[in-house]
Amino acid sequence: MSEIKIERYLAGIGKATILVVDDQPANIQLIFHILGDEYQILMATSGQQALQVCRDSMPDLVLLDVMMPEMDGLQTCQAIKADERIASIPVLFVTGLQKQEQEDACWQVGAVDFIQKPVNANTLLHRVKVHVTLKRQTDFLHTLVYLDGLTGIFNRRYLDNTLEKQIALGKRQRQRDISVLMIDIDHFKLFNDQFGHLAGDEALRQVAETIEDTCLRPNDIVARYGGEEFVVILPNTDASGAAFVAAKIVSAVSSLAIPHPATDYGSVTIGAGIATSAYDTASKSEIIERADQQLYLAKQSGRNCFRQTSLP
Ligand code: GH3
Ligand code: MG
Ligand code: MG
Repeated sequence: MSEIKIERYLAGIGKATILVVDDQPANIQLIFHILGDEYQILMATSGQQALQVCRDSMPDLVLLDVMMPEMDGLQTCQAIKADERIASIPVLFVTGLQKQEQEDACWQVGAVDFIQKPVNANTLLHRVKVHVTLKRQTDFLHTLVYLDGLTGIFNRRYLDNTLEKQIALGKRQRQRDISVLMIDIDHFKLFNDQFGHLAGDEALRQVAETIEDTCLRPNDIVARYGGEEFVVILPNTDASGAAFVAAKIVSAVSSLAIPHPATDYGSVTIGAGIATSAYDTASKSEIIERADQQLYLAKQSGRNCFRQTSLP
């Protein structure tokens, strides 16, 4: 991952968020007192509420009371661990229970740790710090798996996972169209032949950064698809919107003015193919294939341009 990307990642994560669950507001207040300066605290007074907050806010850690009416802490933890969207959130029990079997029950439902009531403030602070640090390191590693080592943007693995999810999400939200751009650097083999692979790698980085900077909507996804090929997913974007983005990207890459004397344009350019599909009928493989066909047409049409199609 590039240093820029790491800095962006670290800047983006801010204070860790901790959900404190207890049916007695006074207990929540006590914990808030201890942790409130260092962490962002969310609160819930029942198991049901805790599950909802987990799904909505994805806290970094849950501090969970064991004895609660209706859904107790053990059941709540079990429900968290059974829901794959939130199962990775660590649960630390805050418990007045003393018996061995009761401790065993906490481990069995998937607790990462527990702390005894009445709470020792120092111990709580240290336990929380350990588990928040571990959680964040794990999240960071998961992020790395989906990033391309050379350019720092998402990799093919991420794209494969996310395109299908994006299609399903758009359908659920009853959005109309999704567009996909397939982008390929023009005559890149000649660039490497003339300037060498290190210069080629640097050009790839610059092109990747430019594509990412040009796609301004927060939901747009830019990934490196293979060698010198990139894919952009534009959720909830129709054909004219996609053409607008593609034109901007083609122009922005050419404006980088990276010298490439072996080509007609004298600088590094890209070709792009766009496929736009209604969410209702969209299929991951077809939309990629059709964007790829349009990319081929863009190459045949002289490069430094895009071609587009809409799937029926
Ligand atoms: P076209 O305009 O038709 O796309 O021609 P092209 O030369 O770009 O296409 P081709 O697929 O023949 O060559 C792609 C080249 O991209 C091959 C390789 O030299 C280069 N390439 C692929 N991955 C990397 C990489 O990670 N680093 C560098 N430096 N070059 C790469
Ligand atoms: Mg190429
Ligand atoms: Mg290629």
